[in-house]
Amino acid sequence: MINVTKAYLPELDEYYCYLKDIWERCWLTNYGPLVVELEKKLKEHLGVKHIFFVNNGTFALQLAIRSLALKGEIITTPFSYVATTSSIVWEGCAPVFVDIDRESLCIDPELIEAAITPNTVAILATHVFGNPCDLEKIAAIALKHDLKLLYDSAHAFGVKYYGKSVLNYGDISTLSFHATKLFHTVEGGAIITDDDDLAFKISYMVNFGHDGPEKFHGLGINGKNSEFHAAMGLCVLPKVSCLMAKRKQISELYDSLLMGMGLKRPFIRDAVQYNYAYYPIIFPTEEKMLCAQKKLNANDIFPRRYFYPALSTLSYVKSNNSKVAEDIAPRILCLPLYYDLTEESVYQIARIIKSCLLA
Ligand SMILES: *Cc1c(COP(=O)(O)O)cnc(C)c1O
Repeated sequence: MINVTKAYLPELDEYYCYLKDIWERCWLTNYGPLVVELEKKLKEHLGVKHIFFVNNGTFALQLAIRSLALKGEIITTPFSYVATTSSIVWEGCAPVFVDIDRESLCIDPELIEAAITPNTVAILATHVFGNPCDLEKIAAIALKHDLKLLYDSAHAFGVKYYGKSVLNYGDISTLSFHATKLFHTVEGGAIITDDDDLAFKISYMVNFGHDGPEKFHGLGINGKNSEFHAAMGLCVLPKVSCLMAKRKQISELYDSLLMGMGLKRPFIRDAVQYNYAYYPIIFPTEEKMLCAQKKLNANDIFPRRYFYPALSTLSYVKSNNSKVAEDIAPRILCLPLYYDLTEESVYQIARIIKSCLLA
């Protein structure tokens, strides 16, 4: 069976070495040495100032919203994973959808200002599939209207823009280290900021507000992650660049096999060093996409409809016209992409897709 992705697992012996250390120390969670080491290594690897390893990427979004004390409307994208919207609603704010740009599939900066009201407090945009948003334009709008700027960077691990990590943009960026992501810790996530005051606030908010065992800085919750999850991260991190290179190879093979068939791919700017986190293709019609999905499924191949439906159509949000997102969401499909996907499988997938496009 071939799924849209497959988690990279290290050699069992390698993970076992970390387990032996955990057993010896009997220090399982609460900022043990492995969590501390992973945070340090991630900081260096990503080139960011403050990073907090938390229990998952959705919590990272929730805490990002909380730490900025946001109350009101948050401008966001209708084309992302549901957690981008649901965490806004969960934190008691109102998502206001601004349609996406047809080429990048990220929020369209030209449409943001028209959506700003006196109740707007922030922009939460997604670097969808790891393709960076229009960072300059969005930053300028946030500055002009005094809005907080948050990026859901769940797909953007290792993505660089003019040689610098995209995680450095905005007031806060969040990552997901879920097993399906390029870099994973089974479950996990991170909050990134370069603001020292905000970092201090986040540092106690993720740990019940503790200031030592008997005092509290303020309100907090439990966002910690464990030594076991950190150990997985420490095993996977050194392999990330190799995993990316493999994915690049497979993506380029897909490119060559699927070229000239009327499929569209998101446009990625030259200044971007991409991470090959996903391989989305946009079909000319939903019917052709469904044909491909059905035929692939019949061959035990399971691509995913990332991201369908458009978030502006969720039952618990105030919908609006996100015409582009609602046009693209029904006909986009992410093809299987992972380090040991065979060339033979890529040929087979391309052949099946071709048969639907030419039908
Ligand atoms: C995976 C993902 C999340 C949620 O991360 P979890 O770690 O699964 O909670 C949030 N936003 C986007 C865009 C994602 O792809």
